[in-house]
Amino acid sequence: MQAHSLFEGSFSVDSSKKFIPFDASKDNKKDRPGSLFIHVHPFLIESANGLLLLDTGIGHTNETGGLQLHDNIRQAGFEPKDVRYVLLSHLHKDHASGMVQERDGTLRLAFPDAEYVVQRGEWEDAYSGKSDSYQMEVFDILQRSGNLLLVDGDGSLNNEVSYAVSGGHTPHHQVFHILVGSEHFFFGGDEAPEPEQFFRQFAAKYDYDGRKSMALRQQYWEQGCAEGWVFLMYHSTNIAIGRPKEKETGGGYKLVDALA
Ligand SMILES: [Zn+2]
Repeated sequence: MQAHSLFEGSFSVDSSKKFIPFDASKDNKKDRPGSLFIHVHPFLIESANGLLLLDTGIGHTNETGGLQLHDNIRQAGFEPKDVRYVLLSHLHKDHASGMVQERDGTLRLAFPDAEYVVQRGEWEDAYSGKSDSYQMEVFDILQRSGNLLLVDGDGSLNNEVSYAVSGGHTPHHQVFHILVGSEHFFFGGDEAPEPEQFFRQFAAKYDYDGRKSMALRQQYWEQGCAEGWVFLMYHSTNIAIGRPKEKETGGGYKLVDALA
């Protein structure tokens, strides 16, 4: 399998929009009233055009101040400097904070050898500073770096990677289709964030357009079943890299772990 989950951990977030590690074996959800609990899985894909990183997590750091994301990439058997493209579904804090890292009190790009692929409308919305779901300091670093590759609408990066504006979670949210080897990987960012949402239909309050997101999820699932996609699910609490499989009993598809 050419896809790897870079599981950053489980966190709670309340109205302060700060992410606090949550360890289900010792922490109690009741002690954090008004919090949302999330799992965070950036992904790494080996492609012929170089390593691809899909979203960058919350920027969690280890005891020595290094990026957890960097550690996870090494643990998967790669070096952070070998990341060629950082593909961003959107720029909310829990997806974009690992784009940079702090070293000696200064923020720098976490992947200085990579191009960061961002949808232009998403960049403009994030940079306008109108929403506290975005973290401004991060964007200044990227803006000045020369590593920002803004894309407009639907298109492709090379013969393996294409992007499509979906616009449900944020007005310019994008999803990625990645064809490597014999696999079709689909990264839906926050429009297909966890398996349960394929099977339980609802419009979510945290989406810019909840009904659109709901319709998109259904469409992705149906097309993915028909074409045998591998789904990469950023906020999954169980299967993060999964593929649809026809139920033995007939009557539709279920999702199974693609790594098993
Ligand atoms: Zn989001």
